[in-house]
Amino acid sequence: MSDVLRLTRAHFPVTALGYGTRLGIWLQGCPLACPGCIAKDTWDPDGGTAVGVGELLGDVRRAIAAGADGVTVSGGEPLEQAAPLAAFLLGVRELAAAAGSGFDVLLYTGFEPAELDADRRAAADLADVLITGRYVVTEPTGLIWRGSANQRMLLQTPLAELRYAAYLDHEPDTPPIQVETTSDGRAWWVGVPNRPGTKQEVESALASLGYTVESVSWRRPR
Ligand code: SF4
Repeated sequence: MSDVLRLTRAHFPVTALGYGTRLGIWLQGCPLACPGCIAKDTWDPDGGTAVGVGELLGDVRRAIAAGADGVTVSGGEPLEQAAPLAAFLLGVRELAAAAGSGFDVLLYTGFEPAELDADRRAAADLADVLITGRYVVTEPTGLIWRGSANQRMLLQTPLAELRYAAYLDHEPDTPPIQVETTSDGRAWWVGVPNRPGTKQEVESALASLGYTVESVSWRRPR
């Protein structure tokens, strides 16, 4: 089993992609090519950086020590790296159990559950929460953390039920968007701008404040 993941980036803290304060991990590579995807920078499977599972678990260890509520794994298509992802998620489970804290895993996938082969299913089963399905640009939604109305949030563990059941049908007035700026005038943002115009509004507001918005993706850190 490979112990290396192709990583787009990782960031802590992330507050717009799941329950509470989280470590965000974006995995590189996606073959699904949803029309309207605004994370095209994550499509190339040879992009990003090769990172050992052990190194990434170090990020999880530090996030738990800092009081994180969980980790969100997105992309790209995380299940394209099913074997090392499963190794990583097993390690996360061990760290969470050792810490004795409620630390959940939210995993985004563009696949539908019925499309998963055995390896992808094994990795997906290690998540507390799965958000499944392609992004369909013609099906906007107000549902929190989902990009389009076809996407489903599946609660796979008691911790997921405890934390996320209240969010299954939750439609906030505006989608949660996290904006970060740097001292040299750059900005990036994280979130799921699932309503028409949200992405443009965020970027226009940042531009009007004089920030240069880095090449974007809807779940992008740093
Ligand atoms: S929306 Fe997600 S699943 Fe679809 S092409 Fe983009 S990264 Fe891949």
